[in-house]
Amino acid sequence: MMKHKTLIDALEENGYLRRDEWIALLSESGQAESRYAAGKARKIAKRYFGNRIYIRGLIEFTSYCRNNCLYCGLRRDNTKARRYRLTQEEILDCCRRGYALGFRTFVLQGGEDAYVTDVRMERIIRRIKALYPDCALTLSLGEREEASYRRLYEAGADRYLLRHETADEVHYAMLHPPEMSAGHRKKCLWQLRDIGYQTGCGFMVGSPGQTAETLAEDMALIHELHPHMIGIGPFIPHRDTPFAGEKAGSVELTLFLLSLLRIMEKQVLLPATTALATLREDGRQLGILAGANVIMPNLSPAGVRDKYSLYDNKKHTGEEAAEGLEKLRRSMQTIGYETVSARGDWEER
Ligand code: SAH
Ligand code: SF4
Repeated sequence: MMKHKTLIDALEENGYLRRDEWIALLSESGQAESRYAAGKARKIAKRYFGNRIYIRGLIEFTSYCRNNCLYCGLRRDNTKARRYRLTQEEILDCCRRGYALGFRTFVLQGGEDAYVTDVRMERIIRRIKALYPDCALTLSLGEREEASYRRLYEAGADRYLLRHETADEVHYAMLHPPEMSAGHRKKCLWQLRDIGYQTGCGFMVGSPGQTAETLAEDMALIHELHPHMIGIGPFIPHRDTPFAGEKAGSVELTLFLLSLLRIMEKQVLLPATTALATLREDGRQLGILAGANVIMPNLSPAGVRDKYSLYDNKKHTGEEAAEGLEKLRRSMQTIGYETVSARGDWEER
């Protein structure tokens, strides 16, 4: 028995739902709705992308962070976190390996590290773009000044990932220390978009304090921002954070939300994230079958991978690792998809 078929149909038709409709859909749905939404989502993804899955090489280049997000293992107050910073040459090494494997997008991600000045970032961006002019470069460096975002864009960065984490101010304040705010995060997202970056927002599923109401806010924000990319994955507790004892987010809800996002933002670039694969061996496949079309294997040097510990047991071997690309390719093939080397930019399709 499916209660909310009409809401899912309306979402497909209109590209949005009212707040009360989102709350009903998210709080009263079961397996039937999930299956129905996944079927629609897959069809939409097939219409725009065929059976092509884009791959992005993730380079986690610094584990230093000045922030103190309550959920994250890299938070400033975690004295047990093992900190590292890749040199320029090490980053370029990652790109070289990645390029040879077939990656045409590199994602430079890190904590908010004071060492990562505009000048240093510009230098590495220019070098990567000079060596690999056919590759897209994505940054994920957290909140910066608008002028800084602009300089990095002008140096050649193409895309920026900045999950909004939650659109609800009160919920945001449960997840972050008082010096951080949902308002500032959103302001950064609009700036990034205005500057010209292909911009990605997103949130954790099942973070402490999340409700159908806060998720309705997330969906409204996404509808308004209309981002090029959306990153969502389950919250997973990290033992050395204040949320050590909290429950992980659910795989089922993550998959349902992936489908709803695909149905709402039809052409969006939507990854099946590492966090999903961390909770379930077949998380990547399930994510793709729910409507995702991007996978971001880890290109960081093997020696630092377990130091970039956002949450417990984060995957970084096998199919999660860039070296496991062949395995990933086969696992996509078994469900009827093909990993491709294209840059995979956002475009009107
Ligand atoms: N410092 C940058 C990028 C690194 S963190 C930033 O914060 O934007 C990248 C993402 O990891 C965050 O946006 C957050 O959504 C996710 N993350 C952090 N801790 C997590 C946890 N415990 N479980 C799941 N995802 C987490
Ligand atoms: Fe730092 Fe990002 Fe972790 Fe927050 S989520 S503590 S900004 S690395």
